[in-house]
Amino acid sequence: MTEYPVEEEPFGFAGLALRPELLQALSGLGYEEPTPIQREAIPPLLDRRDVLGQAATGTGKTAAFALPLLNALDLDLGHEPDAGPAALVLVPTRELAEQVSQAVHKYGSALGVRVLPVYGGTPIGRQLFALKRGVDVVVGTPGRVLDHIGRGTIDLAGVRTVVLDEADEMLDMGFAEDIEAILAETPDERQTVLFSATMPARIETIARQHMHDPVRIQMGRATTAPGEMPKVRQSVYLVARAHKPAALGRVLDIEAPKAAIVFCRTREEVDELTELLNGRGYRAEALHGGLSQDQRDRVMGRLRNGATQLLVATDVAARGLDIEQLTHVVNYNVPSAPEAYVHRIGRVGRAGREGAAITLAEPREQRMIAAIERLTRQPIAIENVPTVADLRARRQEQTREAIEEHLGAPDLDRFRGVLGKLTEEHDLETVVLAAIKMLHEASGGDGDDVEIPSVARSPRDKGGRDRGARHDDRGPDERRGRPGAGRPANAGSARLFLGIGKRAGLRPQDMVGAIAGESGLSARDIGQIQISDRFTLVEVPERSADMVIAALRRATIRGRKATVRRERPN
Ligand code: AMP
Repeated sequence: MTEYPVEEEPFGFAGLALRPELLQALSGLGYEEPTPIQREAIPPLLDRRDVLGQAATGTGKTAAFALPLLNALDLDLGHEPDAGPAALVLVPTRELAEQVSQAVHKYGSALGVRVLPVYGGTPIGRQLFALKRGVDVVVGTPGRVLDHIGRGTIDLAGVRTVVLDEADEMLDMGFAEDIEAILAETPDERQTVLFSATMPARIETIARQHMHDPVRIQMGRATTAPGEMPKVRQSVYLVARAHKPAALGRVLDIEAPKAAIVFCRTREEVDELTELLNGRGYRAEALHGGLSQDQRDRVMGRLRNGATQLLVATDVAARGLDIEQLTHVVNYNVPSAPEAYVHRIGRVGRAGREGAAITLAEPREQRMIAAIERLTRQPIAIENVPTVADLRARRQEQTREAIEEHLGAPDLDRFRGVLGKLTEEHDLETVVLAAIKMLHEASGGDGDDVEIPSVARSPRDKGGRDRGARHDDRGPDERRGRPGAGRPANAGSARLFLGIGKRAGLRPQDMVGAIAGESGLSARDIGQIQISDRFTLVEVPERSADMVIAALRRATIRGRKATVRRERPN
């Protein structure tokens, strides 16, 4: 058996035997080093081994399977129009199909890779056209891939790698049979890669039946003793990707850190955020991996003496930094491994000082938060991004604090003359209020006034444990489809009515796919689904109901626009 040792020392991508075109793409994207899952999965995948990986969104799992898959493509030979795809990636939702396909394109563009996302809910014509011209990698949802196989428009006989991404979600959505049927169309000697955030028994069954002696990779198994964790206030703010820059600004405005590191994933992100934060009035500096020790020392000096407030850095650039003054660590993304989180936040709260660790997480990354909680054995508060009202209240509080700091100043008497003159004509309270207003506005005023939309949260078990543990192993038909009309929705749930049903060919997995894909809700958040001939009732968490309605109204389900509203009480 081949051993795949985990490197203790960080190393760059150059340590992996990837084609130069791929290494160049990674460096162009500003990736400085592989994430732990990449470090562990890429070598065996390059050796064409099967890999069974437990990894959630945010770990870098997409690149972990995409890079070896691209590395193995025989692109010089594969350009015959009817050669069929060499790799197939199955994903649970349309959103993920698009993301993964963009990632494959991004990494493989110098290789000239042709990748096609295929998913339901959109006209099939464009997909047919692309398939006719030939594609190397198909990234699709199981339902639509099976449709294409049925029509004879995708031939999987030449597939050499199959990836099942977010396999637990696919099973939750009722795709087990579709996956079986698709795998049956692929050659037995294919390489099979399975990534799943949780490992329920049904995943093991798939692994046993369809994988050949897989290398198993499990992230975040270790735990940290409670005493080893720094005493730091930890918060996670849930925010959609599009609103992250605004959310970062808002959170920093509220926290008003004296000295903070903002951690990013890539060099590109470091540059973008440094610019954004400077534009917002912060004194921010980028900390690059490429800086000499001298330059680093100077940056650190500026942070220590207060000339710089924020350092924007990647993990690599910040390695070895020791800054006593640091009050805040801000993770612009959830770190790719729980251990990295612990390492980062260990930079604050030293020697009994107060410190705060703030993390911006996309809704899909909530599992990573659970993994961090498991590692640290500490619950982390998940909060929505502060509202405009929160910001205004905080700004006023800051103004009050600033005034209070000056109450004991020795030279206040200098201004008695000014006060005297003003109070000849105005009452004292009005004068004081005007002075407060002036100070408040001079220090930035109320700040911006655009609300940042809050997002749906996955339900959490008591004590903030892994939501993945809530996973049940019942099949979709046991979980869904129980008679529901006429009885009240479960507590905390809202029941939605959709004017589409069996007659339009709607299946529970279509419904789950549409909701998960369009609204970002996880399959686990969706309650019972009852499909009648002409309509469907589905339960979703009450707090997400309006967002789901709005998303479904924009979407097409089984090729149609459907009426979507809350179920009217009888
Ligand atoms: P994933 O877990 O695959 O959804 O990836 C999460 C994010 O991390 C994506 O935005 C990737 O572009 C980014 N990413 C993946 N690998 C790396 C890496 N080695 N360095 C920096 N960013 C990465």
